[in-house]
Amino acid sequence: MNDQRREQNADQAMEDLQIAKALGRIKYKILVFSGKGGVGKSTVAANLAVALALAGKKVGLLDIDFHGPSIPKLMGLAGRRPDMDDGKLLPVRFSDNLVVMSLGMLVDGADDAVIWRGPMKNGAIRQLIKDVAWGDLDYMIVDSPPGTGDEPLSLVQVMQGLTGAIVVTQPQQLSVDDVRRSVSFCEKLSLPVIGILENMSGFICPHCGEVADIFKSGGGEELAREKGIPFLGKLPIDPAIVEVSDAGQPFIYHSSASPAVKAFEEIVERVVMQVETTATKEEAPATPQSDEKGELLRCAMPLAGGVVSAHFGHARSFAFVDYDVKGHVAIKVEEKTPPPHEQGSIPRWIIEENVNVLFTGGIGAMARQMLEEKGVKVVSGAPQVEPLAVVAKYVQGELETGENSCDH
Ligand code: ADP
Repeated sequence: MNDQRREQNADQAMEDLQIAKALGRIKYKILVFSGKGGVGKSTVAANLAVALALAGKKVGLLDIDFHGPSIPKLMGLAGRRPDMDDGKLLPVRFSDNLVVMSLGMLVDGADDAVIWRGPMKNGAIRQLIKDVAWGDLDYMIVDSPPGTGDEPLSLVQVMQGLTGAIVVTQPQQLSVDDVRRSVSFCEKLSLPVIGILENMSGFICPHCGEVADIFKSGGGEELAREKGIPFLGKLPIDPAIVEVSDAGQPFIYHSSASPAVKAFEEIVERVVMQVETTATKEEAPATPQSDEKGELLRCAMPLAGGVVSAHFGHARSFAFVDYDVKGHVAIKVEEKTPPPHEQGSIPRWIIEENVNVLFTGGIGAMARQMLEEKGVKVVSGAPQVEPLAVVAKYVQGELETGENSCDH
């Protein structure tokens, strides 16, 4: 591997770490997803974000729909540009606890057709996570590109640890085939489906307010039953939705007496219930899951200034990296404070953390013995580089180690 390639890999590993750190500060990350465009995916994403914020959650709404990012318009934020602070983009504030970032806020002229080429798309997704000051959030709602092609695939690959996807469908698009494809896309990526939402299901008559089934409805519900996936509910066609959305107002602000608003509120309740009560999704990141034993490597290393430290026993913090060996991707990166430095305390802590490999510049003989006795592989003389770069190189068999730099 030449130097340039090596440098690129290290840069990529550093970026991966930044992405993992940013995502680690967001509790639930939900993809709003549809098999094709025009089914109301953005409308659902925007209104879900607003509803959660109204319920007191801290929410970020991220629009990565390359086919026409419509969130700024739907939220009345068209023409707004994010400010910069300390080298990061500040998401645009919609309300006290809802911030928004959209591809549409980064390109000139909302109506310009932007031609995104493959690698640019991947770069844009990565930037919208790592270069945006999202901060600590309860929820991130992602308006994803439609379809089951490369775009949503890249998104799922970049956004490690997604909580799950909400699949939006319409009753008449026979949607069933389409949703089936969407569901199997999620299954292939081990991305949990939070539920199926049938949009434009029935029509609210603007004169009498009654809901009439003008298309066959219930396709999404049937499929949900067949697949054992939660059905989140039906959102009827309401001409008022188009009107207020065009005026840049989330429709749930509209009239609480509207059957569409009522239906949507129930849908949001189901989403929250699914996400917050369905156990341990946080502990078990959604993607990628490596079920086969031996493929998930838990690594630890002492840190000094963000890179691997030369001293095992004197580091103020340790990085822990859970690495999916088969998928060549880190699925979790954390920084932790070790217990106070007393004889044997830090090796014991590393053992209790179920670490497989410890990287360090230097380590004393006793600590090494304690670790190795418990099956922890100790790699000393590790270079002083970013945690993810060390792990990635080690997994690829390219880690160059030197002398044990400090053996006390
Ligand atoms: P997508 O993101 O799937 O392309 P949008 O959310 O942009 O779809 O919705 C497409 C159009 O359908 C918009 O004009 C929107 O206002 C309208 N729409 C969405 N849901 C409904 C609904 N339940 N009733 C009426 N119009 C709707």
